[in-house]
Amino acid sequence: MNNAKLKGKLIVIVAPSGTGKSTMIKRLKEDFPTLVESVSYTTRPIRPGEIHGSSYFFISRDEFLERKDSQEFLEWAEVHGNFYGTSKIFVENCLDDGKHLLFDLDVQGTDSMKKYFGDVANAIFISPPSVEELEKRLRNRGTENTQVINLRLLNAQKELERKNDFDFLIFNDDIEMAYKRLFEITHQILHE
Ligand code: ADP
Ligand code: 5GP
Repeated sequence: MNNAKLKGKLIVIVAPSGTGKSTMIKRLKEDFPTLVESVSYTTRPIRPGEIHGSSYFFISRDEFLERKDSQEFLEWAEVHGNFYGTSKIFVENCLDDGKHLLFDLDVQGTDSMKKYFGDVANAIFISPPSVEELEKRLRNRGTENTQVINLRLLNAQKELERKNDFDFLIFNDDIEMAYKRLFEITHQILHE
């Protein structure tokens, strides 16, 4: 793929689990209807309210490994004990059509996208105000058990060490202020 010829923009949102990424992405898609979200494949169990094919494609570990071996993923990573991968064909088709793409990836996936697309990929790190607040949000969300929450918090500390390594950094303390900043950055990227 010749990155210089791409008409569509790529936006990658990266944040520790529980920061508020999904909440902000939902609003962003409503405000920028031309943004197409890349739906990843995952082996993690489906949460109440999630929809197969819209939140993720929920597949078994065997199917994931088969797809990985068939080179179907642009990037993939093991995150919090589950596999997650970005569909290569979906991304290529969207970019061929000149669409703007939105990704919700972990730090490893974001690094891969930057390596692959360089400056064409705009990576936005969203940071929680503190690990204590992150723990509160994960517990209040109530979608994971204590063991899974503890693993996500442990990983969050490592991910937070990378918060200054991306193109933009937003602190999600007050949701309205954080979303306003995300809106401004997205507007700038799409209209530059
Ligand atoms: P992520 O997608 O990053 O894992 P979510 O969007 O699911 O996180 O948010 C985790 C929880 O925190 C949700 O219950 C959400 O309503 C809540 N939340 C998000 N942003 C804030 C904020 N600024 N202040 C308080 N709670 C928040
Ligand atoms: P969750 O289980 O909370 O939906 O996601 C866990 C983590 O996996 C989040 O950091 C999310 O951004 C990341 N993630 C989701 N899809 C992908 C993907 O396709 N590739 C990578 N590398 N990370 C992903």
